[in-house]
Amino acid sequence: MTSTEIKLSKALENGIEFSCQMCGECCRGFDEGEVYLYQEDIERLIKSLNLTKKSELKKFAKTYLKVVDDSFLWKEPGAERGRTYRYKSLGFKFRGDDEHCQFLIDKICSIHEARPFQCRCFPFWQMLVSNRKNFINYSKKCPGLKDLKGHYYSKEEILEWANKEYEMEKQYFLEMKKHKFNILKVYPFLSKDMLDK
Ligand code: SF4
Ligand code: SF4
Repeated sequence: MTSTEIKLSKALENGIEFSCQMCGECCRGFDEGEVYLYQEDIERLIKSLNLTKKSELKKFAKTYLKVVDDSFLWKEPGAERGRTYRYKSLGFKFRGDDEHCQFLIDKICSIHEARPFQCRCFPFWQMLVSNRKNFINYSKKCPGLKDLKGHYYSKEEILEWANKEYEMEKQYFLEMKKHKFNILKVYPFLSKDMLDK
């Protein structure tokens, strides 16, 4: 698939009104998901947290990050069919009984300006906006999607977010592919033991 092939669910064809209700549920991965981070996110975080030394970066990775499973459907140019690749990505390590992102403090994101793109573009994730079933499913979990009140997002804006998300994941996939899916080559600051967890 290419980003130009992202098709919006009919439920979103006229755009939607959405405003976050600050419940913090998405910062708990909705009890089952992950908060994925890609290269751009890591670079922004490193800059924002002023992690200049290798040792600081390694410590940050051990405290806040975990290696998670990820997948991407990719069709080589000219190929008839694509295939789904499975590989490793980075996600935030959750903490506490309610398994929350460690940057969530009193229901507020303490790194708002530097938060990952996945947080930034919710609820306009490609898998959510292109599939009615997923949209309905997330409407039950996110009060903002249940109420559908507030800021108006047009079809074009929604597609722009979803496309950017797709491009980010694609870039990471291609980088991983280039390195034979060895995440330690893409992120040299990770320690090997993080791969075993
Ligand atoms: S789940 Fe929805 S309403 Fe709650 S914090 Fe996340 S985006 Fe906002
Ligand atoms: S980075 Fe901020 S917005 Fe993203 S999951 Fe953590 S607390 Fe929530």
